[in-house]
Amino acid sequence: MTMKEHITLDPVEDRDAWMCICGNYPSSDGFYPCDKNGDEVNPTPEEWAAGLYVCGRCGRIINPSSLEVVGRATQPKLLA
Ligand SMILES: [Zn+2]
Repeated sequence: MTMKEHITLDPVEDRDAWMCICGNYPSSDGFYPCDKNGDEVNPTPEEWAAGLYVCGRCGRIINPSSLEVVGRATQPKLLA
């Protein structure tokens, strides 16, 4: 059995702001819409079918409804 990781919400500044396990904030390195591999996509229904986000710092892949870490991309490809 593996422990599931979850990111948390910023308890201080903005209760809707995400805080990754690595310490990344939306206003720091940010979070990006991504596919299941952790590669950034445009947030359109076609490209963003997975509905996931990737942390711009550590590459953890996040399910936005449960805040669960569902994977990790070692080198996420971000759009230019
Ligand atoms: Zn992170």
